[in-house]
Amino acid sequence: MSQPIRILLNGAKGRMGQAIIHVANDEGAVIAGTVDQGDNASKLINDVDVVIDFSSHNATLGIAQLCAQNKKPLVIGTTGHTPEEKNAIADAIKGIPVVWAGNYSVGVTLLNALVRQATRALNQAGRWDIEVTEMHHRHKKDAPSGTADTLLKILMEERKLATDALKHGRSGITGERPLGEIGVHVLRGGDVVGDHTVLFAAEGERLELTHKAANREIFARGALRAARWAKGKSAGIYGMNDVLGLK
Ligand code: NAD
Repeated sequence: MSQPIRILLNGAKGRMGQAIIHVANDEGAVIAGTVDQGDNASKLINDVDVVIDFSSHNATLGIAQLCAQNKKPLVIGTTGHTPEEKNAIADAIKGIPVVWAGNYSVGVTLLNALVRQATRALNQAGRWDIEVTEMHHRHKKDAPSGTADTLLKILMEERKLATDALKHGRSGITGERPLGEIGVHVLRGGDVVGDHTVLFAAEGERLELTHKAANREIFARGALRAARWAKGKSAGIYGMNDVLGLK
């Protein structure tokens, strides 16, 4: 492998930060700097090739601004940003290459493509209702997950629906299910790393597309792969499908 890539890791003490440190060497990377809450990243940024952020939704803007000031590529792993945070981050990173994905696994990158293909095909095949479920460990702080948000965005694009079509859980006398609704169901518990299912239901048949993550290494390896890919790219916001050449 070529020269190891030098990484500054934000959120280094967290579950994902630790997973990245664990697999960095295998993935041709050196963790040249680690920062967590209360640390000062500006002292370390000059000595690295790429910054990876797996801290918290409200910490991403600060590290994004620092990357932009220092012209360093950024891999954004955090999820759960508010619309205001998303806009501010997008504004801040205009001059640098950024990989921004709600899920860095190969399987979910493919799931996204398959869900788009299935929705497009089933739009032409009579009435198919769509429901999305996701399950994560009891410590997860945002809901639905970033991965579920991406799946929902794809479904809304392909069905030409807006966010008011999303039905988060059901209870009481709900009435019959309208076609233009996408049910969203969030489960939390135990140590589940991340399960996502998109379910298409018609009269007499049902199709389920499911991904199950068994450990955090898949995200860590994907984020490091994204960091290697981002080095030297022109400014822009990229996804894992760009990194994996799945576009
Ligand atoms: P975690 O709570 O275990 O770790 C987060 C770490 O960030 C903690 O050590 C915390 O102290 C630190 N932190 C908080 N605020 C900070 C700040 N202002 N500056 C620097 N560090 C700060 O969480 P986790 O499970 O490791 O997940 C981290 C993020 O990554 C979450 O947003 C999660 O949803 C997301 N995530 C994304 C993917 C993906 O593939 N994109 C996969 C898993 C998790």
